[in-house]
Amino acid sequence: MPECIFCQIVEGRLPCARIYENERVLCFLDINPINPGHTLVIPKAHYATMLDITAEDMQACSLVTREVARAIFRATGAPGMNLLQNNFRPAGQHIDHIHFHLIPRRANDNFMTTWPARPADPSELETMLVKITAQM
Ligand code: AMP
Ligand code: ZN
Repeated sequence: MPECIFCQIVEGRLPCARIYENERVLCFLDINPINPGHTLVIPKAHYATMLDITAEDMQACSLVTREVARAIFRATGAPGMNLLQNNFRPAGQHIDHIHFHLIPRRANDNFMTTWPARPADPSELETMLVKITAQM
């Protein structure tokens, strides 16, 4: 996958501010941070989205994400953090190599200021429940 920016970072052909790596996972600072300490965790193998990643690499990314989150909390003193993972363009994915954002948060930092939730109809929940469980 030579055209993938994150594969190029994994291969050392593009630079990154590397925080941590192991056999399966690489973790580096986002070059356009939402807040200082904004970090990306990626599998070294190329998968486009969460639909493609193997269980082993998902697990490896999760474990590294937890450890790095602890380090970011300590390093930044941020009182909050979001773990964010975008899949496909409508969800805000711009790089098609799965990645997990760790975004340190402070009160009133102007990120995700809207969360347009609304109470659902019980019948709507029931219909969706049937549809999704049928696909499990
Ligand atoms: P997403 O919109 O979820 O696909 O996020 C892609 C993220 O990758 C953005 O936050 C970018 O700032 C970040 N990014 C793009 N290129 C680089 C790079 N060369 N090094 C570090 N982060 C990058
Ligand atoms: Zn890639």
